[in-house]
Amino acid sequence: MPAKVNERSKENEAQVSAPVVGIDLGTTNSLIAYMDMGVPRVISDAQGAPLLPSILSVDESGEILVGRSARDRLVTDPKNTVFSVKRLMGKGIEDVREEIDLFHFPITDDSREVIRLNLRGQVLTPPEVSAHILRKLKEAADKFFGEPVRQAVITVPAYFDDAQRQATHDAGKIAGLEVLRLVNEPTAASLAYGIEQRREGVVAVYDLGGGTFDISILKLREGIFEVISTNGDTRLGGDDIDARLIALVLTVLKEETGTDWSENDVLVRQIRFAVIETKHHLTDNDAGVIRFPLPEGPDGKKGKTTSVEIPVTRSQFEELVRPVVERTLPRARQALEDAGLEPEQIDEVVLVGGATRMPLVRRLVEDLFGRRPHTELNPDEVVALGAAVQADILAGGTADMLLLDVTPLSLGIENMGGVIAKIIHRNATIPASASEMFTTFMDGQTSVDIHVLQGERELVGDCRSLARFKLKVPPLPAGLARIEVKFLIDANGILNVTARDQRTGVEQSVEVKPSHGLRDQEVERMLLESFDHAEEDLNLRQLIEGRIEADIALRATEKALKEAAAAQLEPEERKQIERAVEELSAARAGNDHRLLRDKLEAFNETTHHFAEVLMEGAVKTVLKGKALKDV
Ligand code: ADP
Ligand code: MG
Repeated sequence: MPAKVNERSKENEAQVSAPVVGIDLGTTNSLIAYMDMGVPRVISDAQGAPLLPSILSVDESGEILVGRSARDRLVTDPKNTVFSVKRLMGKGIEDVREEIDLFHFPITDDSREVIRLNLRGQVLTPPEVSAHILRKLKEAADKFFGEPVRQAVITVPAYFDDAQRQATHDAGKIAGLEVLRLVNEPTAASLAYGIEQRREGVVAVYDLGGGTFDISILKLREGIFEVISTNGDTRLGGDDIDARLIALVLTVLKEETGTDWSENDVLVRQIRFAVIETKHHLTDNDAGVIRFPLPEGPDGKKGKTTSVEIPVTRSQFEELVRPVVERTLPRARQALEDAGLEPEQIDEVVLVGGATRMPLVRRLVEDLFGRRPHTELNPDEVVALGAAVQADILAGGTADMLLLDVTPLSLGIENMGGVIAKIIHRNATIPASASEMFTTFMDGQTSVDIHVLQGERELVGDCRSLARFKLKVPPLPAGLARIEVKFLIDANGILNVTARDQRTGVEQSVEVKPSHGLRDQEVERMLLESFDHAEEDLNLRQLIEGRIEADIALRATEKALKEAAAAQLEPEERKQIERAVEELSAARAGNDHRLLRDKLEAFNETTHHFAEVLMEGAVKTVLKGKALKDV
């Protein structure tokens, strides 16, 4: 550990009473760490293992098992054994429809907004399953410290959206932990290496775990990390390497026994355990053997087995899995491109995830960045270690380091005409806040509808609805109210929306807790669609905004013409205004946004004097295109 981390922690030591831990809640494995005199260390369980498989199983007696004992049941009781629950966090059933086949455990039919798993009659949501994993980690820590741990920092992937972060936060709460902060995994890994000490620089974090690949580019400025781009593949990891080996074994078996064993689930799961063992062995050795018991007889009846041994060398293994590892490279290049950087501009490369122990991965990453990655710490521990560093900083309260992140999609509210008014833009660094002024659309409107949306497209129907609330406003002519809508995304990435009537000071706010989040593919799809439809959307938006402006101007003018003061108008002037009203109405009814814009300008010119005199400036004060309707 770098000495600097030591110094920083010593200052804090005196104030730390209860231990604050850092937790990596992983898809495959989870672990817990703490600061030991300035050095982060992982806490092992009673069996001396630091890694806890993120697996939960309900056994025949209804007891909930977590970790290795649950993992053993993947073979014997797959229907009541949950793995990869991280993939389900903050998601609705629709979000995971395509993935459901991959899970052997049942998801209940009444899962609509929140996914529910039915394990031998016990119904659990993903945050509850995660809470069991957290509790198991906490137990080991409680025992280690001899007193209960109460506060924790938990890590999440940088791309986790609001709902996924909320679900993780909830899991912590359910487990009886106060979650001091959710920290991005790549940031935690950088903290574990003490990279913040260099104050400035660019860090690439390459994370190849069990089932996911994430690449993050972080910029360090004045000791603060900012995630400037992320990329990855939610279906790429050590599991795919295992799958290649399993396929190899099944081919060999077929050649040798003349039987296709791929339908024998029990055998396939045994082969899986065997190849994983061999894969790990080949990280430190040039050759290994895949060893497992094969049932005698083609139908695999219980009872007699023979032992199968398939020798593999490291180079055979590497040749076989190379295509899997190479799939990470275009993703990594894309992240660099999104960050606007060349590989040479990366100052530090950090390896995260158990699969980066493989020498092949290390070579390919080194080739890509032209620099040797950090490997001094265990790649499957480094995220938890960094979380412990962050926990220590927060507990000490001396240096509340801001760990920045970016929003994956733009956020805004529904504007008149069914278009989105973006308030925080995609890729904005968080914590972030921004506000926009809105007004009312109708005369005498007594409330405005604040409809919170996420997405890149211009039309509300193409964006995702996150929340909706009403703000009461005093009745006023259209366009006179001043409503400030403020978006705030906190350091954990949780969104808070406030609407405030500036005249009355009345305020309404919501913490956005969507029932489920976006899949990464959905984010990707929304982005692609927004590029595809950019021009069309923009035209439509201009047309809609033009129509709103025209409606307000026409209504105000018609009303004003009826008022007594209108009698002061010269007949010629009146005629001109009436003609302008006619032309604008015609353009408003058409579909040409350019023509409408021209007519609006002409209309404003013609009615300018009139408006000033007669309309209390109502037309002028209309906030261009920023009006909220009532529901
Ligand atoms: P996650 O972040 O998904 O929870 P981990 O970082 O714990 O996952 O990585 C788990 C993956 O790392 C598994 O596929 C595991 O087989 C793999 N792994 C762990 N150690 C090694 C090793 N020595 N060689 C190759 N792969 C390894
Ligand atoms: Mg991980």
